[in-house]
Amino acid sequence: MHAIAIHGGAGTLPRAEMTPDQEATYRAGLAAALDAGYAVLEDGGTSLDAVTVAVRILEDDPLFNAGRGAVLTHEGTVELDASIMDGRTLAAGAIAGVAHIRNPIELARAVMEHSPHVMLIGTGAEEFAHTRNIAFVANDYFKTETRKAQLRRVLVGDTRPANELSALGTVGAVARDQAGNLAAATSTGGMTGKRYGRVGDSPIIGAGTYADNGSCAISATGHGEYFIRTAVAHDICARVAYGGATLQQAADAVVMGRLAKMGGEGGIIAVDASGQVVMSFNSEGMFRGARSSGGKREIAIYRDR
Ligand code: ASP
Repeated sequence: MHAIAIHGGAGTLPRAEMTPDQEATYRAGLAAALDAGYAVLEDGGTSLDAVTVAVRILEDDPLFNAGRGAVLTHEGTVELDASIMDGRTLAAGAIAGVAHIRNPIELARAVMEHSPHVMLIGTGAEEFAHTRNIAFVANDYFKTETRKAQLRRVLVGDTRPANELSALGTVGAVARDQAGNLAAATSTGGMTGKRYGRVGDSPIIGAGTYADNGSCAISATGHGEYFIRTAVAHDICARVAYGGATLQQAADAVVMGRLAKMGGEGGIIAVDASGQVVMSFNSEGMFRGARSSGGKREIAIYRDR
């Protein structure tokens, strides 16, 4: 069975504040990415290509916290992080703190495929991007009015929880292709008001992203500091690989158990070696979608839909 799942972050608006129009726009954005990624799998393409295509579409969509529409740093700039992993070879690529790369997921993939390294940061990562003909944009390209307003609220000390400020977000995709190979990709602007070069879990292999054909592929979203400390993505795969847990059991034990106990808000999407998709989150909602050759197609935001 081939399958793909995507997420657009755990930072949904509280349900009471989401207008029907807003909800419809988010669902359409998710559907575009989901169906484009699924089409790659349906055509016999690789899971790596499917997750790259889906994440690139979400990066280009100003609604989601990645690429265009990413959240702003304390200084009002945009700094982007992304990572990708190939479950067949355990090859991985990641970038952090880049400010001018139009599609960070493409640079993460270039690091994986065309450098001897796993992670490049900041200006060095951008220097490498020049050698690979990656598209550059001005930092202003990423900024939207919504994100500027969110930053103003955070800077005046609005103390509502992170999700109510929509400070959480991130996009990601996981897939299993017809050849049985798994892949995962994650891309983010991080958290609103971040400072001092802060980097969250999204570009950290084993925290925000992991893929291993022997167990599963994971992309996470949420309060990154907690996801790093609990090595969320690798922990879930390890429970499947060595602990004999099903993907659902493993995901719930980590997201609803360990993470929730520490106060780590967020969730994950996952696919296992058989193509089964699992999505688990402890936040009020998580923008998400899944589609498989088994006939499943689902787009959801809140717990029940
Ligand atoms: N995990 C991301 C980070 O901490 C943010 C998010 O997913 O909301 O940078």
